[in-house]
Amino acid sequence: MDIQNIKDWGLNIKVSENKPLIISGPCSAETKEQVLQTCKKITASGVHILRGGIWKPRTRPGSFEGLGIIALPWLIEASKQTGLPVCCEVANAYHIEEAIKHGVHILWIGARTTVNPFAVQEIAEAIKGIDIPVMIKNPVNPDLELWLGAFERLSKVGIKKFAAIHRGFSVYNSTKYRNEPQWEIPIELHRRLPNLEIICDPSHIAGKRSLLYEVAQHAMNLNFDGLMIESHINPDDAWSDALQQVTPKGLKELLSQLIVRQTDTDNLNYQNKINHFRNLIDQIDSQVLDMMDQRMNIVRKIGAYKKESNIAILQIERWRYVRDTCLAKSNKLEISQKFVEEFINTIHNESILQQTAVMHKK
Ligand code: PEP
Ligand code: MN
Repeated sequence: MDIQNIKDWGLNIKVSENKPLIISGPCSAETKEQVLQTCKKITASGVHILRGGIWKPRTRPGSFEGLGIIALPWLIEASKQTGLPVCCEVANAYHIEEAIKHGVHILWIGARTTVNPFAVQEIAEAIKGIDIPVMIKNPVNPDLELWLGAFERLSKVGIKKFAAIHRGFSVYNSTKYRNEPQWEIPIELHRRLPNLEIICDPSHIAGKRSLLYEVAQHAMNLNFDGLMIESHINPDDAWSDALQQVTPKGLKELLSQLIVRQTDTDNLNYQNKINHFRNLIDQIDSQVLDMMDQRMNIVRKIGAYKKESNIAILQIERWRYVRDTCLAKSNKLEISQKFVEEFINTIHNESILQQTAVMHKK
């Protein structure tokens, strides 16, 4: 896929080396003063792109759904007063036409739109032939293919100025977060499209101010390219997402506390040490696989023996014993019980598959 990096979007966005790109601004544009005051105050904290919601996809009717086009000139005014480009969410051809007509610099597709291939295709048709950067949020459900599919639909109509926004995934009974980060999904996206820059949206993952920092820091630890953080001149009175928006001062503090990690270093000492440890890990991984191979060899022998003796593959007491023994051992190791549980489950599933194959063999 042909992808142009943010610095090549022609918007004069300059991010210092080893620093994240920062997108900030209110969840929703509410009044001209709120947009202008928020945007002017956050500019000093090193924000690169301003955001403001014009059309808000609310989960249930009755919540504030955005002011629509009357608020677009406020975003443009904020851009003029700060010298920064602005972005807003678009969900259909009408939004795109209006946003572009008013002079919005960057569009983003929201999580509730990425999820729907019809909507993404409509957006692609509307954008065809227009040179505008598009950021695509992950779909609400943890489906990497759907996220990739949205990039492909836009790529097919000639869009090259792309970035991804990771905003977490909906679950039925969310515990700590508003949306589960499931970091392995953006990591896999990065593996599949290494040139695509990924921006983390701690606001919609966290859902509350107190968790923003740890989510943002984790994104930095994983070497994300940027952060999108909602800010508001008076968050407690915000018309949408009041709990998660920060004041301009809060944004400044959060950003100043972030520890930004480098991707690599020329330091020879570091490289020697890391190579030494990585070699050890590679050897252990290889041993683990060899041992799994040996384990499955025994599993197949047992499978043949069970077949001969007309015994079922699964004996629940035996499985309970294997699982409980591993979990008990995990208490004595520095490995989480959750990991051990998933690990032994995976091994057990493979063992059942292997014995099933043996049973089916003529
Ligand atoms: C937003 O950015 O305000 C928004 C609605 O986000 P999402 O699409 O991630 O829910
Ligand atoms: Mn929001």
